[in-house]
Amino acid sequence: MSSELETILGLIKEAKRVLISSHENPDGDAVGSMLGLGLGLEQMGKEVVFYNKDGVPELLRFLPRSERIGNSIDDIKGTFDLAFALDCTGTGRAGGEFEEFLKSGRGGKAVIMDHHQTNSSSADHHLLDPRASSTGIIIYSVLKRLPVEIDSDIAKNLYTTIIGDTGSFKYSNTNPETFRVAADLVERGADPAEISEALFESEPLRKLKLIGLVLPTLEVSGDKKIASVYVDRNMYLQSGACREDSEGIVNIPRSIKGVEVAVFFREESGKDGQSWKVSLRSKGDVDVAKIAEGFGGGGHRKAAGCSLGGSLENVKKTMFGAIEEALR
Ligand code: 5GP
Ligand code: MN
Repeated sequence: MSSELETILGLIKEAKRVLISSHENPDGDAVGSMLGLGLGLEQMGKEVVFYNKDGVPELLRFLPRSERIGNSIDDIKGTFDLAFALDCTGTGRAGGEFEEFLKSGRGGKAVIMDHHQTNSSSADHHLLDPRASSTGIIIYSVLKRLPVEIDSDIAKNLYTTIIGDTGSFKYSNTNPETFRVAADLVERGADPAEISEALFESEPLRKLKLIGLVLPTLEVSGDKKIASVYVDRNMYLQSGACREDSEGIVNIPRSIKGVEVAVFFREESGKDGQSWKVSLRSKGDVDVAKIAEGFGGGGHRKAAGCSLGGSLENVKKTMFGAIEEALR
């Protein structure tokens, strides 16, 4: 066992009040990891408070106890012994309010548990494993070392972290451990068909309307190795869709044969001028985490993101340039 894991287990055992957060615009791994860890710690008699800057997206509200996750830092009262930032490449990924909260000292010791390639190591303690398919798998191994029974609520949450981050066992981060942990979670009450239906067959109609508007934006580079689509503010207005409905849209350019890097640009409701969130996916050897890091973002070798200000035309030019450079 690593000494950092030992330290963190010790901190957990001593703690009375624990705050659990994850990255902004949380996905299944972020929300499932928070609830999996928190419900486990509650079995140990800890008082747990859940916070995510952006709350829980509608699509993930089927997760057991997800209603416990608050999105207002002002609702958080008192002080904590431990504060977790899960699935975060740095404490900043949980948002400025959370970072301020940590800085004030009210969070106690800050701990990051994460599986991303890049990590700024901005907390007091870090449990990092880039080989873990999801942060939920790291949580699973932590809970296994504590006096916690992985019940069906925890199992459903942790199973969802795996389905989300491996694309249902499709991506290159799927390994034998992924299936071993998933099998145990299914035995403990996670129902694959039920979770799959909740995640992939429960889309709101407005999302399909949005996809209809996205398809004509498809652009492919001359050598057919880069493909991109975008969503701008107008498309949200036209379809009635919102930001969280754009989850998964990067899989459209990714699905094309021969494409090595897929890009999705989505317009952000920026205060100061136009700003774009960029999602990158690699099907080949290009390390997109490295590209994203170059623009202040980060992620995994094959899935990463960053934000860029400026017009769509300029942002596209910049990103395509960086990707072409990486392909050379
Ligand atoms: P997505 O494209 O689905 O938003 O994100 C892909 C992966 O990259 C996720 O693991 C996500 O956590 C990470 N990621 C996305 N945007 C950022 C960012 O701005 N900064 C960092 N550090 N990681 C990001
Ligand atoms: Mn993750």
